[in-house]
This record gives sequence, C-alpha cells and structure tokens, in this order.
Amino acid sequence: MVCTPVADLLLVQGHAGEGVTVELELADDDRIPVAHRFPHPEAPSGPRTCFEITLDHERLGSAKTTATLVLDGVVQQVTVDLPAVPQPGAMVGVDPITSCPACNGSEFQPAGRRQHLQMVTCGNCQLVMTSPRPAEDHTLVRYNERYFEEEYLPSQTLSPSLQAHIDAILDHVEPAKAIAPSLFELGVGGGNLAARAAARGWEVRGTDVNPASVQHATNRGLDVWLENVDHADSLGGIYGAVVSEMSIEHVRHPDHFVALAAKALAPGGRLVIYTVSAEGESFEHSGMASPLVGPAEHLFLFSAGSLVSLCERKQLRVELVWRNHTGDEIGVVASKRRDRNNPATG
Ligand SMILES: [Zn+2]
Repeated sequence: MVCTPVADLLLVQGHAGEGVTVELELADDDRIPVAHRFPHPEAPSGPRTCFEITLDHERLGSAKTTATLVLDGVVQQVTVDLPAVPQPGAMVGVDPITSCPACNGSEFQPAGRRQHLQMVTCGNCQLVMTSPRPAEDHTLVRYNERYFEEEYLPSQTLSPSLQAHIDAILDHVEPAKAIAPSLFELGVGGGNLAARAAARGWEVRGTDVNPASVQHATNRGLDVWLENVDHADSLGGIYGAVVSEMSIEHVRHPDHFVALAAKALAPGGRLVIYTVSAEGESFEHSGMASPLVGPAEHLFLFSAGSLVSLCERKQLRVELVWRNHTGDEIGVVASKRRDRNNPATG
C-alpha cells in the first residue's frame, strides 16, 4: 500500500481482490470507504484490483499519524502510516469567469469548494472551472524548481504504460507529419513526449512556464523556451502538429491557446489535447475530494462537450474524442481544414 500527499490530500492506494470491500479505519466508528476501484494501469482491461482512498487535511487533523485497514468488515493487522498532509496556502478567488471559455455560455452551477476556492460547472457544456480564480501571480508561483523536482518529475518515470500513452498521442498526429514535420508542445514538463516526438522524426519545439522544466528539457537537447501561453501572441512558427498533454487544465485562457494553435497549424495539421476530465469515475464518485481536483492548479476539468466546443469555435474539425479506462482523462484530436489558408480568427 502506498500513501502519497497530493496537494492538500492524502492518497492511499493499494490492491485487494475485486469483490473485497476495503475501508480505512481512522478511529472507532470512523471508517472511510474506497473512493473508487480500477484495473491495474498495466492491464487496463483486467479485474478492478486497485483501490484508492482519499483523505483531506481537515478529516485527518494534525494528530492522526496511523490508520488501520479493514477488509470485508474485518479489521486487519495492517497499520498504515499516514504522512503529514500539507496545509493549503491561503488562496483568495479574485477573478470570476463570466462567460465559459469553451462554449461562451453564461449559466453556471456551483460544483463545490476546496482549498478555500469555488468551482462551478457550465450549464451548457459541463466544463468545471475555478471561479473566481486566484490572482495569476498566486497560481504561477507554484511552478518552481521544488514543484518540478519533487512533485512533477517522480510522476514521469518512463513506464511501459506511459511510453504507450505518449506513442498513442503521437500516433494521432502522425498523419500530419507529411504536411509539415514540425510539432509544438505546450507545457513540455520533463520532455518525455517531446523527446519521443523527436525520435519519431518530428522537429520539436515547445514552451513551459516553469524555468526548471525549461532547463531540464534544454539539457535533453530539446528546443524549449520559457513562456506563459496566456500572454503569448503566437506559438512561434507554423506546425504540422500542436500537442498539449496534461497542460491545458493549468492554463488560464484555454480558448486563447486553441486560437493560437489554430493559427499556427498548417492546413491539414492536427491538434491533440489530452487532459483531466470531470466525467470519469474519480470526480463522479469523490466529487471535490477527487485527487483530480486542485482548484488553484487545475483551473479546469474538461467534459467531452467542452473540448469539442473549444475546438469547433476556433474553426477546427474534431476528428476523435477518447477517454482512458477510468474516464478521468480525456483526449481530443482536431484538424485544421485544408481549405483554410487564412488564419482562423476568434
Ligand atoms: Zn461551457
């Protein structure tokens, strides 16, 4: 069993037989059920033997350091050591969203609160978003060297499943290589996808908001520069492919990024966005306690409808929408029509 602090949550993950009920006992009469079960990531069509329990800092309190595992109602001789959960820094929402960046809708329902921030759901396209958002400086300050080294890079160890995931994304843009063999990546991070794209014959460029990421990717020989796409007026070239893998949820103006991508794509070029979804098991079962939720960092949790709308409103043609095995991650492939030689507007 593994206990990992994630933002203001503690994530307890382990394995148990598919039909076995699993609870974590914090104290007598205080048992927390499994939030969701899922197949092992290396065998996505296999039995649901993995489980995940999330605890927030308020539930844990500061004194709680151990818990006990309960299987099928029987307390086990297994004590789980609970690492300290970081207390969320004070975040104040100051920047309300008045129109949905995906569909331009203006009807919002409350989705819930976390980290003292409110999230709302667009009544039209089901995009879940932080609103009001903290000031930009407050969200950007997090993307520093400590975040990159301690929180981000450990998640990027190149396992067979991560390698397969990266190749699946690159397969979606492969047809565009014959049009223009250049690929732009938003949020290069550790550079795994960019390096793989280069190995597959793309001329790769990309940006990141974290200087530690840019340094790391540059050391890997990648052409990456420091830039916040929210303030960019172009993606720095014309590309056959534009890719955003687990980045757009951090961006303040996803519609602006898609507009830049639509301008930067050669006719027939392809955009792939892969991101977190509010339509999967995690958000459905755990709501605001889901580890996907971190309103200061994940400013958006996408729906299929919101991704389609985001692309179509920038005159891109949606080719495909797909989800991972739990539905917690979602991807869209869109292409720039070949008869559009004029830059997309809007
Ligand atoms: Zn919307």
